[in-house]
Amino acid sequence: QAKELGQARHQIFAAGMRAQAETRWQLETEMRRALARREFQLYYQPIVSLKTLKISGFEALIRWQSPQRGFVSPGLFVPVAEESGLIIPIGQWILREACLQMNCWREQFPQHSSLIMSVNLSRRQFSQVDLVEQIETILADVPIDRDCLKLEITESLMMNDFEEGLALLGRLKALGLRLSLDDFGTGYSSLSNLHTFPIDTLKIDRSFVNRLNEERESHKYAQIVRTIVMLGHNLELDVIAEGIETAHQVRALQSLNCEYGQGYFFSKPLSKEAATKLLASDPQWEV
Ligand code: C2E
Ligand code: MG
Ligand code: MG
Ligand code: MG
Repeated sequence: QAKELGQARHQIFAAGMRAQAETRWQLETEMRRALARREFQLYYQPIVSLKTLKISGFEALIRWQSPQRGFVSPGLFVPVAEESGLIIPIGQWILREACLQMNCWREQFPQHSSLIMSVNLSRRQFSQVDLVEQIETILADVPIDRDCLKLEITESLMMNDFEEGLALLGRLKALGLRLSLDDFGTGYSSLSNLHTFPIDTLKIDRSFVNRLNEERESHKYAQIVRTIVMLGHNLELDVIAEGIETAHQVRALQSLNCEYGQGYFFSKPLSKEAATKLLASDPQWEV
């Protein structure tokens, strides 16, 4: 009887796995088509100077409006694109699109000449042996000022082969690009190796920022954020706080000397049309 039960369980488990695999495979097929059918879009979320409360740059974030599924969250499809390798062509499209957009804004808004565009790089892209060549090809096609382009990586990218990862970061820096360490504080390699990374920016993960609230516990998190900011500054890095949702958080981060911020308080990620409108209005936020 126990055996039968075990078998039944196994069958249910297997059916579940099959359903999951089928969904994945289906998603993969649809994504393959989506690229050709231009169903992907880049959205742009402003990164704001906490000193001037004006826009200093944007992070490009991919969006997928699927005719079958409607809006699909990148949290869902980026990992599948990653596993299937589709992130390679999609990533190339993202980088090209972001560069094209920067060129448009450059032309349209010469007063915003110091804008920086941040583009996320996934693990699979990072492990491409010809990543640097891929990027060079795109930059040759769509020339932009290289120090206006920033690549966001996470610590987990360095986990495969640390020495190789470092060498690759060095080659990306040598292209003249900027590098940013995304979601800082959530990985675990961080502290011991941070000083060896040729990066320009630390992004403090949202999970720390959203604990800066009016509750009693929050002063502990403020101390953690203060420490991360100091660490960044000691290593001569810029520090960006992610996921700012309230004016209280802006003020707290200002008092902790964090100089850049990003989050729904300032703006959600915007379509290129909406981001262009926002830039044209050259906003200055109030807190
Ligand atoms: P990430 O790079 O850490 O991006 C920040 C995420 O936080 C974005 O989610 C953004 O919409 C969200 N966010 C920004 N401000 C706030 C806020 O105030 N509150 C809250 N709750 N969320 C906020 P999104 O666009 O859903 O992307 C999720 C993740 O998917 C990204 O995390 C990144 O790892 C990946 N991703 C998104 N776009 C791309 C892309 O173009 N390429 C690659 N390789 N990965 C991407
Ligand atoms: Mg990012
Ligand atoms: Mg992030
Ligand atoms: Mg994050």
